[in-house]
Amino acid sequence: MNLHEYQSKQLFQKYDIAIPAGLTVATPDAAAAACRTLGGGRWVVKAQIHAGGRGKAGGVVLVDDPEQAATAARRLLGGRLISHQSGPAGLPVESLLIEQPTAIARELYLSTLVDRESRQVIFMASHAGGMDIEAVAAAAPEQILMIRVHPAVGLQPFQVRRLGFGLGLDAGQRKALGRLMGGLYRLFMECDASLVEINPLVVTTTGDLVALDAKINLDDNALLRHPELAALRDPGQEDPREAAARAHELSYISLDGNIGCMVNGAGLAMATMDLVKLHGGAPANFLDVGGGATAARVAAAFTLILSDPKVRAVLVNIFGGIVRCDLIAQGIVAAVQEVGVAVPVVVRLEGTNAPQGLKLLADSGLRVQTARTLDEAADLAVAAATN
Ligand code: GDP
Ligand code: MN
Repeated sequence: MNLHEYQSKQLFQKYDIAIPAGLTVATPDAAAAACRTLGGGRWVVKAQIHAGGRGKAGGVVLVDDPEQAATAARRLLGGRLISHQSGPAGLPVESLLIEQPTAIARELYLSTLVDRESRQVIFMASHAGGMDIEAVAAAAPEQILMIRVHPAVGLQPFQVRRLGFGLGLDAGQRKALGRLMGGLYRLFMECDASLVEINPLVVTTTGDLVALDAKINLDDNALLRHPELAALRDPGQEDPREAAARAHELSYISLDGNIGCMVNGAGLAMATMDLVKLHGGAPANFLDVGGGATAARVAAAFTLILSDPKVRAVLVNIFGGIVRCDLIAQGIVAAVQEVGVAVPVVVRLEGTNAPQGLKLLADSGLRVQTARTLDEAADLAVAAATN
């Protein structure tokens, strides 16, 4: 689950990571009022969406009059902001962060994440702040500094010094970096984050370190331990299909292809996607209906897949172990009758009550192709999607 910049910065404050003074608003009048409350003569108006690249997309505006802040707010609020990270449809702007401006001397990059390879928490830093770290990694990987934190000993002062020297910080700034990284590490561990990114981490003209931007990604599987963090979820920023899937307790992830996949079991879903790829197709989604799938759940899953306009064919691959294939077939028939289906459906049912399930599908009069093997099913689905 992603947090908004303003939510991330509130957490930063709790962990003593310096941020600019700011207020979050949702109307143009409140934007102007926030400028007056913050004081000074210049402000930064920042659109709050779950994506970076806002600066280049016109979502970060410097103003020198509260009325200009209101004008920027009128332009941004209620619209969608399209950045290179937001996807082509953009994301809705429902709130703005109004901040006092920071006098920037240097823009650095600092993040904390889980490195799956070493199975440790790592810090990544670069003096090329403000840029996408992916671009830095591609063009100049030697400019990315990395340290791994051993879980038993935690972050060590020598590691902080190594990053501090690497970033060209002076003695006072290295000390500040130590405090900041300590806070970042505690935040990361205590909140069960999977990514905390500060881009840019700014060295101000007075030599202080300030987090100008903030991005936090929390581990969904740990949210049950953090009801106060779970409450920060903003469904408006999330893929509506993924949100609907969560409501039905389905594991669903949107992908770019055109073959909708409905599978029971995460491993089988991965194998199904592999076979679709092998046959030259591309899955539109990952969907695990779970081991104990009911007819109602299958119907919900089917509706979800068909609500995706990219889908040109549906591939159902069910192995009846715990679940009975005839129940799955009932779910498919119910869903297809309910939502109507304009695309070909290929079904492979195997396991408990598979013959009964296949008979139910055959008797339903629906345009459903059945396959004996997964290989054959993937082949049929790819052919159906390309025709
Ligand atoms: P992002 O584009 O979504 O990553 O949004 P950021 O919060 O990183 O802002 C983008 C860029 O706007 C930063 O890299 C800065 O160059 C600039 N910016 C943001 N806040 C300030 C500020 O207070 N003062 C100045 N001078 N520039 C700012
Ligand atoms: Mn940024």
